[in-house]
Amino acid sequence: MEKAVSACPLNCWDACSFHVNIDQQEVRSIAGNHDHPVTQGKICGRGRLLAERTNSPQRILHPLKKWNGEWIQISWDQALDEIALKMKEAKEKFSPRAVMHSHDYSNNGLLKCLDQRFFNCFGGLTEVVGSLCWGAGIAAQKWDFGNAYSHAPDDIENSKRIVVWGRNAANTNMHLYIRLQNMKKKGVPITVIDPIHHTTAKLADRYVCIKPGMDGWLALGVIKTILKNGWEDKHFIENYTEGFQDLVELASSISFKEIEKAADVSRETIQELADTYTSGPTSTFLGLGMQRYRNGGNTIRLIDALAAVSGNVGIPGGGCNYGNLAVGESFSKEKLTLPERRKEVRQFTRMNQAEDILGAKELPVEVLFITRSNPLTQVPDTNRVRKAFESVPTVVAVDQYMTDSAAIADYVLPCTTVFEEEDIYYASMYHHYMNYGKKLVPPKGEAKSDREIWKMLAERLGFGDDFKYTTDDFLEMGLQSLNKYGITLEKLKKEQFIELPVDSVPWKDRHFQTPTGKYEFTSTLALQEGFSDGKIKLIYPEESEVNLPEHTKQFPYQLLTIHPLRSNHSQSYHLIGSLQSITVHVSDSIADFKGITEGDTVEIYNKRGRVRGKAKIIKNGHPNVINVDEGQWQRFGGSINVLTPSGESDLGQGSTFYDCKVDIEKIS
Ligand code: SF4
Repeated sequence: MEKAVSACPLNCWDACSFHVNIDQQEVRSIAGNHDHPVTQGKICGRGRLLAERTNSPQRILHPLKKWNGEWIQISWDQALDEIALKMKEAKEKFSPRAVMHSHDYSNNGLLKCLDQRFFNCFGGLTEVVGSLCWGAGIAAQKWDFGNAYSHAPDDIENSKRIVVWGRNAANTNMHLYIRLQNMKKKGVPITVIDPIHHTTAKLADRYVCIKPGMDGWLALGVIKTILKNGWEDKHFIENYTEGFQDLVELASSISFKEIEKAADVSRETIQELADTYTSGPTSTFLGLGMQRYRNGGNTIRLIDALAAVSGNVGIPGGGCNYGNLAVGESFSKEKLTLPERRKEVRQFTRMNQAEDILGAKELPVEVLFITRSNPLTQVPDTNRVRKAFESVPTVVAVDQYMTDSAAIADYVLPCTTVFEEEDIYYASMYHHYMNYGKKLVPPKGEAKSDREIWKMLAERLGFGDDFKYTTDDFLEMGLQSLNKYGITLEKLKKEQFIELPVDSVPWKDRHFQTPTGKYEFTSTLALQEGFSDGKIKLIYPEESEVNLPEHTKQFPYQLLTIHPLRSNHSQSYHLIGSLQSITVHVSDSIADFKGITEGDTVEIYNKRGRVRGKAKIIKNGHPNVINVDEGQWQRFGGSINVLTPSGESDLGQGSTFYDCKVDIEKIS
C-alpha cells in the first residue's frame, strides 16, 4: 500500500490535509495528515467519502449525449465538436452572451478558475454573480471593514470569552470545534447563539436561543446595553471609526421591550451578552445561516458593529470571524483568468438565474454550461429552475455523477476527482494554509480534468494557444504573487502545505480597507454603490409577521435548510443509503400542537411546493422551527428547495433560503 499526501477539495471551512492510501492504482482509504499544523490528522466523514466518490460504479465514465430522451455514449471528439459548433452558432447569431455558465464551488482547486479564462477568451458570456452561500455577509464586512478577514485559528488562545453565533462548528468546521473543546477545558466561557440547540450549543456554557432571522436585533440590544452603561471602547470609536452617531441614533430608535419581543430573547440575556462582549478579548465566530434572509446583510453589519463598539476589532483574541478572503487574494488569479480578454458580459444572479433565463427573450440563452454545481437541487425554487433550464436549447453538464442537473442536460462530460488531477487547495473561510495535491491515480474511464476539457474546447473555438500550458505552468502562474515570499511550486511540492502570508490578527494596525481608512458604522462604499445613505438598517426578514402578515398566518413555521453532516451539499446522498429519504426535524412545540410523533410521515408545504418526509422531533431550540437538511436529490424525495424563495438579500446578491415560512401536516 502506497501512502501519499493530498488535500480535501470540498467547499468547507477546514481545507484538511489528507493521507491517501493507494493500492494497484486505486484509492483505498483516506485519513488525516498529522503533520498539518491546523487540521492535525483529523478529518470528517465527508472527506473520507472521497475515496468512494472516486471509485463508485455510479460514476459517469464516458461523454454522454441525450438522444430521443435516452443517454447514448459518444466519443470526446464528437461531444466537443458538437458543443463547440453550438457555441459558435450562438455567438455568431447573437453574441457570446448567448452562452451561459452556471457554476459554484463544489469541487475546488486553484485551477478551477480556468473556466473564467475559457469564457473570457471566448469573448464573454452570461455569468452568474452573487452567492447562494455567504454573499450578504461578505458584502456587509466589505462595507464595515473594507474586507472580510478572519483571525488565524490559534489566535483563539488569546480570547477570554468566545461567542459562536449561528455556526454549528461540530458539523461544519470541526477544527474550530476541537479548539472550542480545548478552550472550554481551560475555563474560557463559550456562548452559542442559534435557533437550533445543536452539538456546538451543547458544548456551550451559555446557549441563547434566538428567533430565526432576528440576530441583528439582538446585536443592537447588546449595543444599546453597552452604550447605556458607558462600556463602549471610546478610544477606538473616536480615532478609528466613522458614523458612530448614526448607530447611536439607531439604538435610540427602538426600546429594549421591542427588541426582546422581536428576537425572543430576555433582557437578562441581553445584559449577560453585554458583559461578555466587554470582558474580553471576545472572539465572535459567525455562521452563514443568519445572513440567508432578506435582512441578512444588515444582520452581519449589526454584529460587526457590536464587535467594534465593544473594542474587539484588531486585537488578539477578538475579531468578528466570518470569511477570510485574504487567503484567495494571495494568488495571482488574474494571470490565470485573463479578465482583459472578456468583451461582452451579461450578469444573472445565482438566486434569480431561472427568472433571468426565462425573461431573456431578445438575447436568449442558447447554450448553458453547468460546472462544479448542481443548481437543480441547490438553487431556490427548484420548479422554476427546472422550467428555465429545460427552456435552453443546449445544456452541457460537466460532472462525475448523474445529478439532478446533469439529468436534464443534453451532454454530460465526465470529469476527474481530486485524486485524478493535480491542483492547489485552500479555503477562504478559516485557516490560511494552502495544500498541494498531486495526481495519484489514473482517471476512471474517460474522465478528464476541467482544465483538459476547457483546453480541448478552446482548440476547437480558435483560442487553443491560451490553453497550451501544462498543469505546472498554470500552477506557477497562480503562485507568481507569492514568489517574493520565497513560495514556489517546487517548494510547495516538497513541503505539501505552506502557510500563506496572511495577517493572523486582521486590522491590528487600525488601517481599514474602507474609502475613509476607518471602520465604518455608516458605509461610504454603500453610497458609492448607489445605496441610499449607507446607514445600518434594522429590518425584519421578508416572510415575517410584520412584512407578510397574511402569508405567515397561512404558513406559520420557519423552515431552515441547514448543511447536512455527512454530505457536502448534494454530493454524497447517492452514496449513503441511510441518507436517501427526507428527515423533517420538527420542534417539540410544533409536534405537540400538530399531534406529530417521531417517525410519522409529514408533509411541509407553502405556495411554492410540497415535500414529504419522516418526522424527527428536536428539543430546546426555537419553538417555531422546522429543519430539513439541504442537498437532497429528486429521486430521494428532494429537493427541499422546491419550498425556498428566490429573492435576494439586502446586500451582496446573497440568498434568502431561510427566509421561508411553511405549514406542516401529519399524513395519515
Ligand atoms: S469536508 Fe471539511 S472537515 Fe471534512 S475532510 Fe473536507 S475539509 Fe476536512
